[in-house]
Amino acid sequence: MILAITLSALAMTVIVGVRYLIVSGAFAFATRRRHPGLYTGLDPQMRREIVWSLASAAIYGIPAGIVAWGWQHHGWTQVYENIGDRPLWWAPVSVLLYLLLHDTWFYWTHRWMHRPEPFRIAHALHHASRPPTAWAAMAFHPIEALTGAVVIPLLVFVIPIPVAGLALVLTIMTVMGVTNHMGWEIFPRFMWRGALGGWLITASHHQRHHELYGCNYGLYFRHWDRLCGTDRGIGDFARDHARAAKRALAAAPAAGGGVDGRGGTSRPA
Ligand SMILES: [Zn+2]
Ligand SMILES: [Zn+2]
Repeated sequence: MILAITLSALAMTVIVGVRYLIVSGAFAFATRRRHPGLYTGLDPQMRREIVWSLASAAIYGIPAGIVAWGWQHHGWTQVYENIGDRPLWWAPVSVLLYLLLHDTWFYWTHRWMHRPEPFRIAHALHHASRPPTAWAAMAFHPIEALTGAVVIPLLVFVIPIPVAGLALVLTIMTVMGVTNHMGWEIFPRFMWRGALGGWLITASHHQRHHELYGCNYGLYFRHWDRLCGTDRGIGDFARDHARAAKRALAAAPAAGGGVDGRGGTSRPA
């Protein structure tokens, strides 16, 4: 039994890790096509982001693997296989509930982690990415990763959700985690401006969190930020992109074999 649980935890860790590498890799590739040079000079930072993200994969994978084992062998959790096992309207409602509750948990734990002491211990690592890249999606200190890792494995015990709904929640979680840190806006304008954009979080909103720190704490939705007066609107990427252009310019002579000893590739503070 111990072996089966260990194997399940291991398998889930590998799944989360590979999923991260594929999704972040795909969006990093898209970034190179769309904004060449945006990540120039950030190689050491991206390596760090990947190492911490893979460590987080284990922290996410272990509880998920244990719960998956219990679901398979002992019928733990409220996850149901056939979408028709409950009224059809419940499927979208359950997905929305998971997103809303995860967002609530994230908002308050994230806001707490911006108090000086918890920030220093658990959250400074995530903000060490300046500016973050598509690889920063899971670049968290183990304590922060743990606060994120327990949410879905606990919710599945309380709120019924079809397997397909759970897959959708995990997909949204992964894609938003990556795109919010990518350094440019991939979603259509209506998702970050206008009536709907005022309530949804995409890269433009989270960019401002990484720029100003004490605001824009939410994950998917803006209602907690707006309700609590911590919403500072959306940022733009002009400054980050200008800095990237400067880095690319500084790196160019070195890459071309130039011999000036300035080595101007240091990251902006
Ligand atoms: Zn933060
Ligand atoms: Zn972030």
